[in-house]
Amino acid sequence: MAKKKSKSKEPAVFGGDKAVTESLPRWPWVTDEEIEEVHQALVESREDWTQICTAGPGGRAGQLEERFADYIGVSHAIATAGGGPSLHMACMSALQMGDEVITSPYSWGQTVSCILQAGGVPIFADIHPETLTLDPAGIEEKITEHTKAIVVVHIGGIPADMDAIMEIAGRHGLMVIADCAQAHGSLYKGKQVGSFAHYGCFSIGSGKNLAAGDGGVLVTDDRELYERALLAGMHPMRTRNQIQTPELQERIDSLIYTYRINALTAALALRMMDRLDELNGWRRRNVAALAEELDGVPGIRPQRLPDHLDPAWHIAYWTFVPEEVEGASRAQYLKALQAEGVPMGGSYVGTPIHMRRTFQRKEFQFGKGYPWAANPRNDEIAYAEGDCPVAEKRCREGDITMYGGSCWKDVSKVTNQIGKAFRKVTAQIGRLKDIEA
Ligand SMILES: *Cc1c(COP(=O)(O)O)cnc(C)c1O
Repeated sequence: MAKKKSKSKEPAVFGGDKAVTESLPRWPWVTDEEIEEVHQALVESREDWTQICTAGPGGRAGQLEERFADYIGVSHAIATAGGGPSLHMACMSALQMGDEVITSPYSWGQTVSCILQAGGVPIFADIHPETLTLDPAGIEEKITEHTKAIVVVHIGGIPADMDAIMEIAGRHGLMVIADCAQAHGSLYKGKQVGSFAHYGCFSIGSGKNLAAGDGGVLVTDDRELYERALLAGMHPMRTRNQIQTPELQERIDSLIYTYRINALTAALALRMMDRLDELNGWRRRNVAALAEELDGVPGIRPQRLPDHLDPAWHIAYWTFVPEEVEGASRAQYLKALQAEGVPMGGSYVGTPIHMRRTFQRKEFQFGKGYPWAANPRNDEIAYAEGDCPVAEKRCREGDITMYGGSCWKDVSKVTNQIGKAFRKVTAQIGRLKDIEA
């Protein structure tokens, strides 16, 4: 007589009980101190309007800028309406219509959108298979006489190889803009990311590691670059006050986007910085605990990063190992784990950016071939599958990700249960290939 299968050993995808019963805390959340800071800003605005209006310099937005610049270790910061606006301000300062910009196809669309918005032509270089950021080895062959900048992204918080990238940029006279939207507190050789590039562009919106509603911060260590960025996004009440370069003063109040931060977001972010390092500490500890918990489990392994990269893990990354799962696909493997309550998914990027419609057809907005048409090399520039094989393979089958879910204070129960879920599912590994995915 066949023994009745225990419900706790049977994978949930086949009808057993779920292994993960602990619920995961939400991210983000606000503390009482943060609410009080916003309240105070509103109360003070009765006497001092600058507490809720950021057109001019100063106020809590000014305090946030000082604190953020200090945290990153640079001389200037501009609090902005978002990571996207910060990136656009940086690109406005760097580019003329038709200029080429080397960037990564392995990101969220805004890493590249800012280039198009400023009239630049994105040229994609491949990523490194372990660090998942721009591989310096592939950059130089993409540089032409029309190349003006490199936009790097510290995806998920993993720092790009800044020494190598800055060295290449220096030799070719290129500006480097870093998309740090997912990397507050990530360290490269012990120093904050955002301090290496000419511009570092942070988001403090949505669910980022510093999540104050919607907003951003742009940082730079160069006075002239600071003034150029102010010119692109800040109100004349501020630019008249802060721009000292005569040639830039002549441009005040000519082409400005309303990219200043909302004052209440600035108040919230200012207080949230009190706990940024503590929360990043939880993320680091939890990703390390999970790596230990999942050590030796078939089908998954952690990214192998060199010691000088210390990510604050906005997204935690693993690599799927198809050779270990007896013919199951990543989708089947993940479906079984998700049924157990494991908070992991496939690729964060999905379709690599160079394979999206805008690039396949070179069709920005609905227009007349710009910005490509402004580049003398327009006929040679095309985007196709195979351009960035490492990024394409990661998206298609390599990525296993956990988004936002690494920020838990008391995590040991959850990591234990996730480990249990993996062991339960992989004990039945031969059955996974029959799952309908
Ligand atoms: C969130 C994000 C942005 C944009 O930031 P917003 O504040 O939403 O404008 C840009 N790049 C990356 C990689 C991001 O994750």
